[in-house]
Amino acid sequence: MMSVERLQQAAFRPPETTMPIYEYRCKSCGHTFEALVRSQDIPACEKCRSTDLERMLSMFAVNSEGTRASSLRSARKQNKKTQLDKAVADREEIEHHRH
Ligand SMILES: [Zn+2]
Repeated sequence: MMSVERLQQAAFRPPETTMPIYEYRCKSCGHTFEALVRSQDIPACEKCRSTDLERMLSMFAVNSEGTRASSLRSARKQNKKTQLDKAVADREEIEHHRH
């Protein structure tokens, strides 16, 4: 049997295709909440239904930070490979000049 904690972890794990989740603070009542926002959707406060909200933190930004880090890693890997290919090419060039 799965524990509640395990189920919650599974539910909160960010999906592969990230939807922007924003944290809002209601200017009317001060309530903060997270909302999944598609394109031009305007979320309303969970408590007072006000749409006078202040956007605070974006989960999407956090996730794209991770994406940037991983793309940087793959870029470095690619760079290393390119250098290796160049080293092989240089060696081949040297071999070629001997003949
Ligand atoms: Zn409110």
